Amino acid sequence: LPTVKLTDIGKRYGNVTALDGISLEVSQGEVTCILGDNGAGKSTLIKIVSGLIPPDSGSYQVSGSAVRFSSPREALALGIATVYQDLALVPLMPVWRNFFLGSEITKGAGPFRRLDIPAMRRTADVELSKMGINLADVDQPIGTLSGGQSQCVAIARAIHFGAKILILDEPTAALGVKQSGVVLKYIAAARAAGIGVIFISHNPHHAYLVGDRFIILNRGGLAMNATRDEITLPE
Ligand code: ADP
Ligand code: ADP
Repeated sequence: LPTVKLTDIGKRYGNVTALDGISLEVSQGEVTCILGDNGAGKSTLIKIVSGLIPPDSGSYQVSGSAVRFSSPREALALGIATVYQDLALVPLMPVWRNFFLGSEITKGAGPFRRLDIPAMRRTADVELSKMGINLADVDQPIGTLSGGQSQCVAIARAIHFGAKILILDEPTAALGVKQSGVVLKYIAAARAAGIGVIFISHNPHHAYLVGDRFIILNRGGLAMNATRDEITLPE
């Protein structure tokens, strides 16, 4: 069963049709890339998947059961986590505190309420060092890290607190080549760990480096829905 299945989803804002009959499936261990110009409907689509807004029409299933989320908490409780472009990190707070920020509203939060500060520190050290954050940086304000490292902290946080489907809203948009590479490697690692990733991007090259499936939205419609094998590149 696909973890997330959208069928014929429609959404309008007044007389603007933001999504017009969109269907897609996302399974565990698969990276689905969503591409499209400004105004194509990408934000609207991820807002629906993450429970921020309801669709006007169509059906949304998670692991085979119909859902109708009335808040992002309900989506999070099913392991659908979103890392937005603005990251929701607090720049002046140490990296490790940012790692735990918001964990009380996620599924994996229970055990962590009982942890003391040194234990949280140790957990953050272990998890953050896995993704190449220097241990000397863990106590620094996260605002001192690069954009790529900050993205990795936000992604690691979502995964650690139980994400099964991870929605990434343009995670490489503000990054240079090297930092983008760090984030793309991390996306590949999430995929290898069995997480289903929805990767919103403006950058077809970044999408191709990690994607299993490629969806192009155009004015709310599906302009393309193809697997990696179905795409041909010049030799
Ligand atoms: P993208 O993320 O691909 O740029 P959006 O989902 O933000 O696309 O927007 C799709 C269309 O819906 C655009 O025409 C946009 O102007 C419109 N739109 C998005 N959000 C709203 C809103 N809250 N109110 C009115 N129109 C909106
Ligand atoms: P993006 O390409 O990342 O969606 P946008 O600038 O298109 O960036 O949209 C930023 C935010 O504003 C999104 O949350 C989108 O839904 C909302 N938005 C887009 N168009 C409109 C609009 N016409 N009216 C109100 N909100 C809008």
